[in-house]
Amino acid sequence: MRITRVRLGRLSAPLRVPFTTALRSVTSIEDVVVQVCTDTGAVGYGEAPPTGVITGDTTGAITGAITDHIAPVIMGRPMDDLNTLLTRVNASIVHNSSAKAAIDMALWDLYGQLHGIPVYQLLGGGRRTLTTDITISVNDPDQMAADTRNAIERGYTCLKTKVGKDAAMDVARLRAVRAQAGPDVTIRIDANQGWTPAQAVRILDAMQDEGLDIELVEQPVAAADLTGLKFVTDRSPVPVMADEAVFTPSDALAIMQQHAADLVNIKLMKCGGLSNALKIASFAEIYGVECMIGCMLEAKIAVNAAVHLACARSVITKVDLDGPVLCTHDPVHGGAVFDEQAITVSDAPGLGIAGVDDDVVFTDC
Ligand code: MG
Repeated sequence: MRITRVRLGRLSAPLRVPFTTALRSVTSIEDVVVQVCTDTGAVGYGEAPPTGVITGDTTGAITGAITDHIAPVIMGRPMDDLNTLLTRVNASIVHNSSAKAAIDMALWDLYGQLHGIPVYQLLGGGRRTLTTDITISVNDPDQMAADTRNAIERGYTCLKTKVGKDAAMDVARLRAVRAQAGPDVTIRIDANQGWTPAQAVRILDAMQDEGLDIELVEQPVAAADLTGLKFVTDRSPVPVMADEAVFTPSDALAIMQQHAADLVNIKLMKCGGLSNALKIASFAEIYGVECMIGCMLEAKIAVNAAVHLACARSVITKVDLDGPVLCTHDPVHGGAVFDEQAITVSDAPGLGIAGVDDDVVFTDC
């Protein structure tokens, strides 16, 4: 099996409700889709979202990185030496983690197809099912209570509530969400860098003093402020998870060595794909740090790759893979089955993606 072509397309999927965090508000998923084609007819699929405010990756940057730097280093090469291919992709350009992730997952997809094995089994096997949370966007408390009611009616037992915008309102927001959710639903929160370290400790203390029972808080402070992150971790009554502060395996290692956070959120788009995600998971196993598997606003090609990783690594104990269920329809065929909070991995070879809707037009790099 030899790589013959790399093709790019654009995939669009409207969201049920606008997705709003401390960093942005968007109404649809608009991702770059990749096909890595081979001389056997096998096609590997990848996907990358333009999440400029987090990764710095725009649509133009993703397509440019793949066309000018990444595709040329894999073109014509054999699929049976996956390690060399992945190394070439990583070395082809600095940064551009989303573009690298899209190609990385397409290569794992092809390697699984080459050997007739689903990727999660290539990675060691394990669970076949996961339970995801669902995101409650940051809004006024009444709207968040309504969104919580809707999530509960859809059967979700774990909510990821966005906060960090107008910090003075955050305790009231959580009060409204907890009142609507009842005592048995797990509530985790994500401030998306929206608080100062002192503010974070004050707000988290207030939430726990009120009995709002927060499972964990993601990225309370600015991504670059590791000192501030550790300040919160050392004082918070709620476990602290690093998200925007962890892109690369080196970032994860530094945070674990300093105990700057209690937990780490792994996202393929931050670290550049399954290969680096596996390294972060290995560090986490060594340091005894539990991980979340997360996603950006992504459709099912990319989220499906994250499902395979999470099924194969027991250190990933928390699942935030709600991209597909936030959309009004699923433009991706095959892959994992997303039935609200229940995700079941596909046993088809590779990543199991069969294709995308016909309105996605692919062109050669
Ligand atoms: Mg986050």
